[in-house]
Amino acid sequence: MNPRALRETLTRRKGLEHGEPFPRGRDRVAMLYPSPYRAGMSSLGFQWIATLLAEAGFGVERVFLPDDPEAWRKARLPPLSIETQTPLGTFPLLAVSVAYELELAGLVEVLRLAGIPPLRRDRNEGHPKVLIGGPLTFSNPLPCAPFADAMIFGEADDVVVPAVAGFFDTGSLDHVASLPGGWTPEQGAATVPVAKADDTHLPARSRIWTREAELTDMILVEGERGCHRACSFCVMRRSTNGGMRLVSPDRLLELIPEEAPRIGLVGAAISDHPQLVGLLERIVESGRGVGISSLRADRVALKPDIPRLLRKGGYQTLTVASDAASQRLRRQLQKGTTEGHLLACAEAAKEHGYRQLKVYMMLGVPGEGEADIEELIAFTRRLAEIHPTALGIAPFVPKFNTPMDRAEFAGIKVVEGRLERVREGLRGTRVEVRPTSARWAWVEARLAQGGPLAGEAVMRAVEAGGSFAAWKQALGEAGVEEPQRAAVGTLG
Ligand code: SF4
Repeated sequence: MNPRALRETLTRRKGLEHGEPFPRGRDRVAMLYPSPYRAGMSSLGFQWIATLLAEAGFGVERVFLPDDPEAWRKARLPPLSIETQTPLGTFPLLAVSVAYELELAGLVEVLRLAGIPPLRRDRNEGHPKVLIGGPLTFSNPLPCAPFADAMIFGEADDVVVPAVAGFFDTGSLDHVASLPGGWTPEQGAATVPVAKADDTHLPARSRIWTREAELTDMILVEGERGCHRACSFCVMRRSTNGGMRLVSPDRLLELIPEEAPRIGLVGAAISDHPQLVGLLERIVESGRGVGISSLRADRVALKPDIPRLLRKGGYQTLTVASDAASQRLRRQLQKGTTEGHLLACAEAAKEHGYRQLKVYMMLGVPGEGEADIEELIAFTRRLAEIHPTALGIAPFVPKFNTPMDRAEFAGIKVVEGRLERVREGLRGTRVEVRPTSARWAWVEARLAQGGPLAGEAVMRAVEAGGSFAAWKQALGEAGVEEPQRAAVGTLG
């Protein structure tokens, strides 16, 4: 594709957007998402932080990792903003949202395409400053450290405006260290407590919807923030920022533009919202579609109006999580879901004419054995006898800031072997097995347990072509081939 055609893809995308455009402002900030547009425009946090900055008077422009970075490289075109097609490298400040560990590869990629050295130590005064935040900062942000001039850990709602304003006052991000959740390189390989936003900011909401987003034509709004449950593998468990903070349906609905065709309700534990049924009723009665970011199986089982209304609001697949292979392991993870709840979900999917029941779970949870895998096979067969089922399988990856942060990753061979047994056991049934890669989970586990040296390894892996072998070598050279928190090193 030539440069003109690539620019036209941005023009076309902008033309397809609905909602409130970002106004121009004198002090320009690039809101950078290190994954492609489709994913970034489905991120509530990304859109919300951009909105807070725009409302404070900054000229916010969105930049995404190109869909096909190689095409942009060949065309010698740097990543450009959606708003004015300004090259990324000409902004004085980049505000980056990183969702999960493997997205750091996208960050390295997009900075390289822009001609900006990814590592802070290789940049000079002529380069933009890089401020990093996002969901990853709730667990282990240290692999981001080599790329950042400053970071905000946790909820950035209260902090991002003073962070950016201070930059335009002083030309530096040093003041971020004095803000809640603020980190600067002086802190080295140490984390700081995550920031908690004042409840007056809630609910976060998106301002632009588009058919080009993964969540097609959907305006996103936070129905609650945090979670009051205690699943031992999860960074959003109740010990994080005091649990669940609710938004009332009235408040939520008054913030949604009339013309938005679909409303996506977001929240780690949104299906635990005590007024969810009433809220869904009001949305569906208004003739709009509805989506929900997560659905607990026990809620579907105990409140049958939830699956009924979601189906009415256009939901096609009823998606819940079982999280582990057996009831014993679910109990071990302090997950309240039972077989009875999951069977009720399959019945609800059948009753309301869902295309499929989708069940997410993790393989390789510590303590898992053959008996657990056999139970998984037998139980999934039972679900599929009721309704066609998809089994979304992800290898267990231990995360910091959870009770399981020192747990072992099961190993690629172990996970692949068990996966093979699951496939074999479910052959000929109405179950579709959809696994994610054990190899990439291994990489994720290294990054989830690593420090700044793991971040530098990301850079070398990307430079070496990004294959699994390149990652393995880069992580090995950095001393993080096996999970070890000691291998944090020092910041360059
Ligand atoms: S897995 Fe879900 S229910 Fe459990 S603590 Fe995390 S957000 Fe809450």
